[in-house]
Amino acid sequence: MHHFTYVGSNLHCESVDLAEIARLYGTPTYVYSATTLADNYTRLANGLAGLDVQVCYAQKANANIAILRHFANLGAGFDLVSGGEIRRVLAAGADVKRSVFAGVGKTEPEIKLALENEIFAFHVESEPEIARINHVAGKLGVKAPIAIRINPDVDAKTHAKITTGKSENKFGIPLKQAGAAYEAAAKYPNIFIKGVQMHIGSQLTSVAPFVEAVTKVVPFVEELKAKYGITYFSIGGGIGIVYQDALASGQQAWWDAQPAETRPITPEAYGAALAPLLKPLGLKILLEPGRNMVGNAGVLLSRVEYLKRGEGRNFLIIDAAMNDLARPAMYDSYHEIVPLHRDTARRAFTADVVGPICESGDCFAKQRPLQEIGEGEYIAFMSAGAYGFSMASRYNTRNLAAEVLVKGGSFELINARETFEQQIANEKIPAFLKA
Ligand SMILES: *Cc1c(COP(=O)(O)O)cnc(C)c1O
Repeated sequence: MHHFTYVGSNLHCESVDLAEIARLYGTPTYVYSATTLADNYTRLANGLAGLDVQVCYAQKANANIAILRHFANLGAGFDLVSGGEIRRVLAAGADVKRSVFAGVGKTEPEIKLALENEIFAFHVESEPEIARINHVAGKLGVKAPIAIRINPDVDAKTHAKITTGKSENKFGIPLKQAGAAYEAAAKYPNIFIKGVQMHIGSQLTSVAPFVEAVTKVVPFVEELKAKYGITYFSIGGGIGIVYQDALASGQQAWWDAQPAETRPITPEAYGAALAPLLKPLGLKILLEPGRNMVGNAGVLLSRVEYLKRGEGRNFLIIDAAMNDLARPAMYDSYHEIVPLHRDTARRAFTADVVGPICESGDCFAKQRPLQEIGEGEYIAFMSAGAYGFSMASRYNTRNLAAEVLVKGGSFELINARETFEQQIANEKIPAFLKA
């Protein structure tokens, strides 16, 4: 469910005509729906009925401070993976006390920053990291709360680059070694064992791997509760979203029409499957959703620059590129592409939708069936709210895109388009090159 839909012939975000935003701020521009963001948060937070749930939004999916503030206002904490992300929480005027700090390579300054801001817990990925956290906590004269990330060795059946819960992945400590890791952690004077964590991968489209992982880990969690009095279990993120029928999936009717066997995961189905397994633990449950909170709440607007008719192939050359939205080039991801102005009288045609970057990989879609559109018209990439802007780069000296947040009939720029001057501000020519 989301709030992108055609009103008459024009695609709207909530009550705002997206073409108005494209004309006002130019393209490429990301647009997010505040109401969809709030719905996504609420559905997930309420999905595990009867449990004490804390949602820690995985900021890496979309780190704009306006979005962080919106989620914080709703009660969310954050799943953070760098010192920069800790600073973003502060910049958003939100509290780090409800947030957790994950990642395999935490540096000393990052650990210090997290402790100074009273992080809820560190999600530890290795034994040497425990020693380092203990050392930094000792210098500050505090006890560091930790949970160890356990790797349940479950196949999340998702793209290889975003699966994390198999034993060959770099993440976490294998279940077999986790008991020893906790014993080792308990010996450090400045470490406080607070919980346990897992995260098996991203864009999971069924509940089965989650159920398998939780079922596998629950006996160990019970053991930790008995031994160390842990108070929480974080089951990670990874809940998938709809990419293929992204526009249609905004409507309840689409969901009702899906056969039960192939219906994509929903927060309600996720909650209903997991709550009975988790309830007997009597622990606080942390969720770390990223994609599911923001993915379907954002679109990327772009303008068609040229329609190039090749031999037996059309190329729609647009002003967005792989630097703005990296997912298709990086993970072969599918994004639905729709025109901002729909005209059913237009012919159907197929085209390769490509960006202007000098790489064949700068291709968003091959042989995509579309309505015939041409120069100067606008299109939207659906489901672009997660891992879109947050993965953007400046490749080919392209400025980072603008971002806009819509609520009802209002909208505001939440990130102005980068300028060339900002892009090269830190570059300089050394004296020895100056004649
Ligand atoms: C990336 C990540 C998440 C969020 O994953 P999504 O698939 O976006 O929900 C949650 N927890 C950890 C530890 C992560 O690395």
